[in-house]
Amino acid sequence: MKTVYFDNNATTKVADEVLEDIQPYFSKLYGNPSSMHTFGGQVGIKIREAREKIAVLLGCNPGEIIFTGCGTESDNTAIKGTLAAYPQKRKVITTRVEHPAVLAVCRDLENQGYTIVELGVDKKGRMNLSELESQLDDNTAIVTIMFANNETGTIFPVERIAEMVTARGIIFHTDAVQAVGKIPINLSKSSIDLLSLSGHKLHAPKGVGILYVRKGTRLTPFMLGGHQEGGRRAGTENVPGIIGLGKACELAMKNFDEENKRVKYLRDKLEKSILKKCPDCMVNGDAENRLPNTTNISFEYIEGEAILLMLDKFGICASSGSACTSGSLEPSHVLRAMGVPFTAAHGSIRFSLSRYNTEDEIDYTVEKIPPIIARLRELSPFVAK
Ligand code: PLP
Repeated sequence: MKTVYFDNNATTKVADEVLEDIQPYFSKLYGNPSSMHTFGGQVGIKIREAREKIAVLLGCNPGEIIFTGCGTESDNTAIKGTLAAYPQKRKVITTRVEHPAVLAVCRDLENQGYTIVELGVDKKGRMNLSELESQLDDNTAIVTIMFANNETGTIFPVERIAEMVTARGIIFHTDAVQAVGKIPINLSKSSIDLLSLSGHKLHAPKGVGILYVRKGTRLTPFMLGGHQEGGRRAGTENVPGIIGLGKACELAMKNFDEENKRVKYLRDKLEKSILKKCPDCMVNGDAENRLPNTTNISFEYIEGEAILLMLDKFGICASSGSACTSGSLEPSHVLRAMGVPFTAAHGSIRFSLSRYNTEDEIDYTVEKIPPIIARLRELSPFVAK
């Protein structure tokens, strides 16, 4: 059975070009980039080149990039490293729809006595900037707001937010794990101080991420040990991961507009066809201001997990927002924050595409979904018969 992969916000395929580039660094070129000898030194040069390629995609200086192990580490470092650098400030502002890599840190900090403000969002997942402005004060160390939401694709106006926040002398961090490679980012033209990226979301391997740290930003290192990354993140580098991330960023830059336009066309075709063929469906998120690859659709009166299991029988991979807590399915915190009704939140499915998806895959999926939905609704106790 063929696999039709629409779960690219969870993780992506490593691009063939990336795989080809990194293979020698597992076998022949295994030197430590910190070594004095030429064998290790040649690897160090490749890390420098990767840093330069990533800097081109982000529009920043290579020296402003710190390699980390994943997006979660980048988010943790940004928040905890800022608080450690500004010990007199005890307040963090974020939103209710962040990834757990931010929310779990904030909730842990709250237990330690910090003041955490979680800003709400409207029905489309958008935040209110004046509410944010009213919360900024001298006690605020950091504002952390995602570039784009992983579940709905809703894009936040982070450049405007960064200006507002940094004008008050407060550090602004954005979790751009879902945004990089999908929408243009130019850090040289923005006031963003800290930005997180994860390799495995843009066709690089798992186990590598970056934290962008604007030159001059105070940040206390999170990982202590060796002198790697200029003493800002200790630990021997994930050499293949870093080289792969450099290549993945180079590939993302190539035909950036055309690729994302094509992905958006496929996403729109999938979404429109589903809405046309299946009654009682709705799109969650800000339809006009979304990542080009993401659609989150609620199928009223049925469980998202049941839909996923039936899609899986046809090799179609997607995801639902629900999480299993204490033996029951809890609808996604993002959809709950948006006020999506219970019956719709439970039946939500996220389809997230990549440049490797084809029109044939869309047609195949559009053919399979309506009978699945009709069958599940026949079995649903919530549908009047
Ligand atoms: N932030 C967002 C918005 C994400 O979607 C994810 C992963 O899904 C992460 C952070 C965590 O990234 P990683 O898996 O690299 O730790």
